[in-house]
Amino acid sequence: MVEEFIYRQPVKIWFGAGELRKLPDVLSELGITRCVLVCDRFLAGRAEQLKAELPEIRAVFSDVEANPQLSGVEDVVTLLRETESDGVIGLGGGSTLDTAKFAAAIAKAPGEAIEYFRGKRAFPAAGLPIVTVPTTAGTGSEVTQVSVVSHGREKKTINQPVFMPKAAIVDPTLTLSVPPRTTMNTGLDALAHALEGYWSRNHQPISDLLAIEAVRLVLENLEAAFQDGNNLEARTNMSLAALLGGLSFALPKTAGSHACSYPLSEDYHLPHGEACAFTLDSFVRINADARLELLCQRTGMRKTDYLADKIQYFKELAGLRTRLSDLGEVDLDKLCRDCAAHPLMQNNPVVMDEDRLRRMFEALR
Ligand code: NAD
Repeated sequence: MVEEFIYRQPVKIWFGAGELRKLPDVLSELGITRCVLVCDRFLAGRAEQLKAELPEIRAVFSDVEANPQLSGVEDVVTLLRETESDGVIGLGGGSTLDTAKFAAAIAKAPGEAIEYFRGKRAFPAAGLPIVTVPTTAGTGSEVTQVSVVSHGREKKTINQPVFMPKAAIVDPTLTLSVPPRTTMNTGLDALAHALEGYWSRNHQPISDLLAIEAVRLVLENLEAAFQDGNNLEARTNMSLAALLGGLSFALPKTAGSHACSYPLSEDYHLPHGEACAFTLDSFVRINADARLELLCQRTGMRKTDYLADKIQYFKELAGLRTRLSDLGEVDLDKLCRDCAAHPLMQNNPVVMDEDRLRRMFEALR
């Protein structure tokens, strides 16, 4: 029997090859007349080109770093205040979108970004409207109210309604230039979102359907996108998978493999997608009883073991790290302690205490 649930998805999504050309319409629909475009260095040229074409773009901030730092948020806030902007565009991967979302949220409010990061100030109910334009197919940040930002080595996932974008333009052609390894990392991030949204303790029927379709799309298209970056069909399906993956975890939130990804990124410097993928196949086996048989039937996998093996195959194909020995010197006690203590671990359908995590990691020696 279906239990009570509330489903909400407030982002207007413009999807399709070439949809970036609709940016002026999207800005006008949102009443944005002066804005800052946020990106990283790779997209600086494209951003300047857009600025030359669109009078609404008053400034470009192109210094976002991977695993974005709070200092980047502060710089964008300063620029937004200086230009008296009434909107923000984030053009890039998850690092860029998360920076833009955080800055848009607080630009009109008093105080500094660090006060919000530390929880010393409450986030405002409304910020500047933000348009997200993802250029990787992975994080789903274009449709979530999540921003992941670091201050020094302290990486925080902040979940606030004010971070929710007003519009997302998902144009798969923007992902054609993503290099193979990043394609695999980000594609496995999308897969992790869908699987974790599905097996989350807070899963619900609409999110489940989105998750199943996202998993199917990843399983059928990730290898093709990895092998040939110019394969627009595979890229389009991966952009859709990432979008559906984002929608599928937005309400239920993620679980075990994401909980483990934080210590793996912070202490062993794995990029986000690779860090999630490191334990994802282990969690497929551990969480097998969390209705995974049904998901496997609907995604052509037949058995949960096949799904786990496929994830391992993807990782090996791209030369991602799969064993503890690939991480250098590992402090296993600390790793298990930190993974067990992460709040997202509470969301895992199987209780994972330090002992159980140790057994999982021992099997990865
Ligand atoms: P990223 O944004 O850090 O980008 C990775 C690399 O890919 C960068 O070097 C970037 O320049 C490059 N790149 C981006 N687009 C490109 C393109 N079209 N062509 C060539 N290169 C391109 O990576 P990501 O995986 O998209 O984002 C990771 C970040 O997102 C992490 O900080 C993670 O914690 C966060 N995240 C956020 C959410 C959320 O809901 N907010 C969800 C998952 C992950």
